[in-house]
Amino acid sequence: MAAKRSTKQKIPALRLQIAYLDCPSLDKDAANYLMLSQNKLQSFFEFSVINLDSFLGWDANENQGDNILDALDVKNAVMSTDDYLERAHKAFEEAASYEYMEIDEETSEEYISIDSIHEDVKWMIITECRFEGDFYMDGDDDCIILSISNWKDSMAPPSALEFLVRQSQVACAMFCGVDISHIQIKGCLGDYAEALADTKQHVIIGAICYDCEMKVQKQIGKDALQALKAIMDLSWLGKVDEPASVSAILRNTFNYDLETTRGFSPTIQDKLRNILLTSTVQWMVKVVFTILLAWLILMLGLK
Ligand SMILES: [Zn+2]
Repeated sequence: MAAKRSTKQKIPALRLQIAYLDCPSLDKDAANYLMLSQNKLQSFFEFSVINLDSFLGWDANENQGDNILDALDVKNAVMSTDDYLERAHKAFEEAASYEYMEIDEETSEEYISIDSIHEDVKWMIITECRFEGDFYMDGDDDCIILSISNWKDSMAPPSALEFLVRQSQVACAMFCGVDISHIQIKGCLGDYAEALADTKQHVIIGAICYDCEMKVQKQIGKDALQALKAIMDLSWLGKVDEPASVSAILRNTFNYDLETTRGFSPTIQDKLRNILLTSTVQWMVKVVFTILLAWLILMLGLK
């Protein structure tokens, strides 16, 4: 039986479904953890994640239909935003209607389980496919497409994942119907950035300027403004040396260190460094050095 909803719990005003499509390089687990951590900070926006790449050709072997997307050669593909929006719509409609067989362990009977995705959900599709004209973001009433193909590690800081989190917040404001775009760069969520590299200030600073604040409050209310501010202030990431912080869990569990990892996924060097930073390894290194030092003192003393 479904748990009864507490009277204090409010239905989210906006459900944002973050989806990965044509994303072979992005560390989706680490990205998911960061995106979903925003749900603990407020309840006005609800973030959920889905990997649409797992739907590409999922029933291709069964020859079951025409609505299966062909996998893209992501490194070389360039698509117009219109064509990519069409692809994105096909992918999430496929996902939203997805049915799969499960087996009841007690009765061994097969049944169809329907993975329900709310009808009122809005989509933000993250892709590594390049868009014509080097646009990085476009969308319609239901779906925003965000291309990260132009991300270069030299753009960090912020890291690629912090960029994604910030863009999910931009998507929240856009889907609430607030036009907060301005050409002046203020480190505000509403900064207009023609190229992905131009987003640096608003990703790092994450402010909301007076004009944008007034627009949000007037159009969608105080609760929305509070929720937006709660997720925009990235102090919720905490510090890497605080074990329970989001940053620490991201590094220790997902190998993604926000202070040093720059790209879509941790490199081999990042992983090695994180292993060396674990307390067990540090303790072992200390023990080995202590033994070596004691041995050296002993040897010198004997001579
Ligand atoms: Zn602004």
